[in-house]
Amino acid sequence: MSRIARFCSLCGRPLISKHLSGRMRPYCSACEQPVYFDPKVAVVVFIGRDDRVLLIKRAVDPGKGKWALPAGFVDYDEAPEAAARREVLEETGLNVRITRLLDVFPKRDEGLADIVIAYSAQVIAGEACAGDDAADLGWFTRDNLPPLVFYPSITLTGRWIGGALEF
Ligand SMILES: [Zn+2]
Repeated sequence: MSRIARFCSLCGRPLISKHLSGRMRPYCSACEQPVYFDPKVAVVVFIGRDDRVLLIKRAVDPGKGKWALPAGFVDYDEAPEAAARREVLEETGLNVRITRLLDVFPKRDEGLADIVIAYSAQVIAGEACAGDDAADLGWFTRDNLPPLVFYPSITLTGRWIGGALEF
């Protein structure tokens, strides 16, 4: 996602553009403060059970109507694993235990995050029920996957189909 800053968040004056730390950045001449844009960080969770993977159907764009692994943004003061458990609970009603760090993905498509941290998890409690930005959910076998969206979900399920991701 592109980033724009027009005014200083400290003093409210218009920002200029200044070359700092290797690139042009917004800069407040009055406060002598640059603006460093931070990456948006998301988590995605691969939950397997009985040789099936849990997918949610997207209720909103991007990817509305397509399927993906449960995922969402990490809040600014939140541990990534806590964000993963929270997002799974919000979207699926399931309490999970994070079992493994699977990968870290850079942004490669229309997904809203700049960095995506992928975990595997196991269900420990709860009844599966779609919520938040999930319109539906289901457990899918390797040979009946629905249309998927987002690079991390497509990559992780691809590894699972190819036998490179166990749970
Ligand atoms: Zn300022």
